[in-house]
Amino acid sequence: DGTCFQFASPEICQNRSFVLQAIQATRAWWLLKFVSAELLADESFVEECRACAGFGLVFTFYENYSCSAMMRKLFKTTVASVPGGTAYQGVMEMLNGAEHGSTATVWFGDELVFGNSADDGNWIHPSGDCGRDNVPVPIGDCDAKWRSPVESRSARQEPDPGESYKCWCCHWIREVRKHHETGAIICCAVSNIYERGWVEEYSAGSSELSDADATALELPREVFRNGQPRGWGEGTIRISKGLSFHRKAPIHSDTRKPLGVGCRWERHVLDNLGFPVYAFFMP
Ligand SMILES: [Zn+2]
Ligand SMILES: [Zn+2]
Repeated sequence: DGTCFQFASPEICQNRSFVLQAIQATRAWWLLKFVSAELLADESFVEECRACAGFGLVFTFYENYSCSAMMRKLFKTTVASVPGGTAYQGVMEMLNGAEHGSTATVWFGDELVFGNSADDGNWIHPSGDCGRDNVPVPIGDCDAKWRSPVESRSARQEPDPGESYKCWCCHWIREVRKHHETGAIICCAVSNIYERGWVEEYSAGSSELSDADATALELPREVFRNGQPRGWGEGTIRISKGLSFHRKAPIHSDTRKPLGVGCRWERHVLDNLGFPVYAFFMP
């Protein structure tokens, strides 16, 4: 994986065309973390490297076991999306406990907030501000985005007209942007399987949804600007180090829907933020 670059010889680390080709091939512009000071001083070179990483979700090292953990050990890395469930808290602790690791999360406790869909799923929160965050709820006939209950961890109700509520999605998007702007590399975890044993111990699992299942369940398909990894949401994924895991998101016992609704919305947003986001199966 790309973090092997840390062991590259000084000749390689100052070889302009080698570095550029490596970034073109992997879309990992963070390889610049390992190059010589001389190359980094050349702004146009740095710009060229950034540009060839493009944007959206990057799946180059998706199946790698240790790449994201190594990134957190070596430079500022923020994991912006992790599936919920029993394993969630444990994953958060591991990520925030890493040397340069952090997470971009928002938490409102008992405060009622707007969420990522409205109008029975016909309105989906955009990749920028939605216009509901701290804005008084219109009185009378209103736009689709307002046709949604507000929820907290303990309650759910129709919003009161004239009242203002926060939107957790707007807050999360701002939080991710803030981490990016302060120089962190942004990552996204598609499962909450931190270690193999967590599948049994914490019911950790994947949040991938295949196109076939999306169609069958009338859910939005997961479309990514850089394409969907082969086998998405089907069968098993082989991770380096000889591990393999089920790719299909488990079905929620109450809603009968595949787990990871919030995660899939987050991935859709991360695909549209205008900078690359590195996706990994394992956190
Ligand atoms: Zn933060
Ligand atoms: Zn919003």
